Amino acid sequence: MTFETVIGLEVHAQLRTNTKIFCGCRTEFGHPPNTHTCPVCLGLPGSLPVINKRAVEMAIRTGLALNCSIRSTNIFARKHYFYPDLPKGYQISQYEEPICEWGWIDLNVNGSSKRVRIRRAHLEEDAGKNIHAGEDSHSYVDLNRAGTPLLEIVTEPDMHSADEVVAYLKSLRDVLVYLDVCDGNMEQGSFRCEPNISLRPTGSDTLGTKVELKNINSFKFVKDATEYEIKRQTKVLTDGGKVCQETRLWNINLGQTVVMRSKEEAHDYRYFPDPDLLPLSISDEWIDELRGTLQELPQVRQQRFLTEYSLPEYDAGVLTKSRELADYFESCVQLFAEPKIISNFIMGELLRELNQAGTVVESSPVSPDRLVELLQLVHDGTISLKVAKDIFPELYAGEKSAAQLVEEKGLQQVSDEGALEKLVQEVLEKNSGQVEQFRGGKETVLGFFVGQVMKASSGKANPKKVSDLLTRALSS
Ligand code: ADP
Ligand code: MG
Ligand code: ZN
Repeated sequence: MTFETVIGLEVHAQLRTNTKIFCGCRTEFGHPPNTHTCPVCLGLPGSLPVINKRAVEMAIRTGLALNCSIRSTNIFARKHYFYPDLPKGYQISQYEEPICEWGWIDLNVNGSSKRVRIRRAHLEEDAGKNIHAGEDSHSYVDLNRAGTPLLEIVTEPDMHSADEVVAYLKSLRDVLVYLDVCDGNMEQGSFRCEPNISLRPTGSDTLGTKVELKNINSFKFVKDATEYEIKRQTKVLTDGGKVCQETRLWNINLGQTVVMRSKEEAHDYRYFPDPDLLPLSISDEWIDELRGTLQELPQVRQQRFLTEYSLPEYDAGVLTKSRELADYFESCVQLFAEPKIISNFIMGELLRELNQAGTVVESSPVSPDRLVELLQLVHDGTISLKVAKDIFPELYAGEKSAAQLVEEKGLQQVSDEGALEKLVQEVLEKNSGQVEQFRGGKETVLGFFVGQVMKASSGKANPKKVSDLLTRALSS
């Protein structure tokens, strides 16, 4: 018997508000424990939560970008469970009436298109953190994170492989980062995912028993854990066993998923509407206003780069990885209508310098107009591409413009036939062996000669001219 894999995903994204979802405490990461707390997020009796408008705004913008409908009446619910990092004994969440519903993301997975439906996205508060790493045998609780706004985004069980899961997560993360609502950092836990995985006999349309995976904090682990779990369940079923409904953790050291809790231990959350929070009304005007602020999404922009600038898919993908990089590219193209030349130079030289400096394009010392000035010097034949690449680190490091650098260093391309002719003769004389090879029919040696002449000219010779002169000299 063969089986089909079915996967649905729950993602918790921390929203990048300055303050928490129900109080004014800062959300910033990395401060001494319990310094960003107040009676509300400590869960002290008598304190009252107040919804953070920015968090709602971010949820609406995300919902719109994910093609969801936005609910006009929102109810917040208490979800009860006991854990030391949850001071109130319940988490404020949304249950029957989530803010966003029925959206989708379109993906391209290994060359074919694929739609993953989004069932819902709802607002809730994050819990604090338990710390067990001390020297002594105590455990500690840090509530700085308690009350950080989360958007939980839940798909329909529409995915069927680890590749689809990874493609969905990457695409979702791109959207969140582009909208500037989440920093998308899986390692630090601001973008957490939980795949729900089940198998069913191929052709069946009822769902099998699912296992939920937790503790996955990189795309690689998503792929590894999902693939492992599919294999594990396949083996259980093939051996005639039954998959248990349970939550399993990805154990990096073992490279396996291990049981965390089974269905019998699952919580009854006793949801009910939070009487401390009024139903939240969202007007059509507000939704329309936010719709107006949505930037072009990464996928749409990538498609536009393919058609508008005739870039290869690879280039379009790299350039739209961040909104700032895509903006930078487009600023260059506005000044100089040679998209492919610009793309090559950004992907090769600029990104290399930025990576080496450990910085991002927003803080690039070379502005689009300075980069374009350099590329125009290549385009009009003043310097060779090689020289442009050679002086780029200096352009990046200094105050000088491309024209100044070329002038000071005397790097103008040599197109003067007399001067080049001389270099050509020298190179041919020095390499009589290769000349004979060429005359004997091995025409690929021409490339070698061009290289030698370029070298002799310190990269300044005009390669087109050199090639012409060589051809002429060799056939005479
Ligand atoms: P739970 O209440 O256990 O969280 P939900 O019904 O809310 O379960 O679904 C959570 C996620 O699991 C959703 O993304 C959903 O698409 C997915 N899911 C539900 N049932 C299955 C199943 N049998 N196999 C795979 N995924 C499933
Ligand atoms: Mg669940
Ligand atoms: Zn607080």
